Amino acid sequence: MFRLRLLVTCLFLPLMASAGPDDYRFPREPGTTKDGYPLPLSGVPITKTPVIAKPGVDVKDYPGHYVPGRESLDDNEMRVTACGSWGPAPMRIGQGASCFLVELGNGDTFIFDIGGGTVGNLFALGVHPAELDKVFITHFHLDHIGGIFPLFDAMGWGRNTPLHVWGSSGYTPELGITALADNIMQAAEWHIQNKQSILPKAGMTIIPHEIDISKFTPENPRQLAYDENGVKIYAFPVIHALAGSMGFRLEWNGLTFVYTADSQPSTFEAEQSKGADVFLHEIFPSAEEFAHYNHMPTQDAEGVMEEHTTPAELGRVFSIAKPRLGVGMHFTLDENLIDPLFQRWRTTYDDPVLLMQDLTTINITKNYIVVRQTKADLLAWPAPPPTLPEGADLSRGEPSKAKRPDWLTATRLPSE
Ligand SMILES: [Zn+2]
Ligand SMILES: [Zn+2]
Repeated sequence: MFRLRLLVTCLFLPLMASAGPDDYRFPREPGTTKDGYPLPLSGVPITKTPVIAKPGVDVKDYPGHYVPGRESLDDNEMRVTACGSWGPAPMRIGQGASCFLVELGNGDTFIFDIGGGTVGNLFALGVHPAELDKVFITHFHLDHIGGIFPLFDAMGWGRNTPLHVWGSSGYTPELGITALADNIMQAAEWHIQNKQSILPKAGMTIIPHEIDISKFTPENPRQLAYDENGVKIYAFPVIHALAGSMGFRLEWNGLTFVYTADSQPSTFEAEQSKGADVFLHEIFPSAEEFAHYNHMPTQDAEGVMEEHTTPAELGRVFSIAKPRLGVGMHFTLDENLIDPLFQRWRTTYDDPVLLMQDLTTINITKNYIVVRQTKADLLAWPAPPPTLPEGADLSRGEPSKAKRPDWLTATRLPSE
């Protein structure tokens, strides 16, 4: 009996111990590239300036890694975490498509883009799904919206209130955020008809907020898309693919975060991003490198590149915008590309920069910026739910008429 118990303990303890962040191992050991940049996926952010502080200020003593749920945000602090840092397919297990969570010291949270392969990271960050209900979408390429279904699916078990999405009104209505929200809900019709009589129906709703792109002009370069609780989020157009691509500028408590996602370099976006504490912009390898990694003819890769920004071009944008920290995202995470990207970046820009991989976390205050990697619990459960807003509608809908045939249900094994 004792031997059996010991055997059982030995079998189960290692499995149980591997569930938490204390036992989490980054897939690669710490190390550096030839030029001295941290290796991808080694638990160290890819930058040579993980701490940027004003002279003479005391920087808070942060743990080496950000562990969600164990570290509170100061009242004046902003935290930005990459849930996905790559772009179009093929997506890889170690790098989801574009998605960034912004958390503020006042308790507000915002999601910028919701690409595929990112929602597991998002749910592991210690924020209850009911609070992950505000999504700002830069444009509707699928690498920026492909994760919306699992976020929408937090209905019932996590979110009993609508999911709000902001985005372009569209050059024509079918290209806009309202059509996108309607189409997602239509695609989810079978799911909604099944759930609407057993869970609050409000959680099965997506509410679109249109940013009217016809109002952008050189004289009216940005629009206020969100203005609540001291948080202002402006939208401005960027040069990428069809009409309707935009960047966002979040201002709160004297701190500014700018996210342009995909865009060709322009003086316009640089002007709109001036004064940013942290500025996230895409950065792309060369057409030859992109072709190599994606098994694509170079000619096709050159067509893709026309819509994007090289490292040297990004340096020129940052030279005008002058962020405290310039960030490149939407790049192919590969050990062999780190040095070439930085080398090209450094031909036009000398100030602090970061290549943001998945689960890189940036803490921002007026006095300092600190960059770390998040140690996520791979089996994390959501944080406790917040209090429901007063007057929240918890009503259910009608049961669906799409009943299974009785003859099929009658063959079910008796319940035990
Ligand atoms: Zn993209
Ligand atoms: Zn795009």
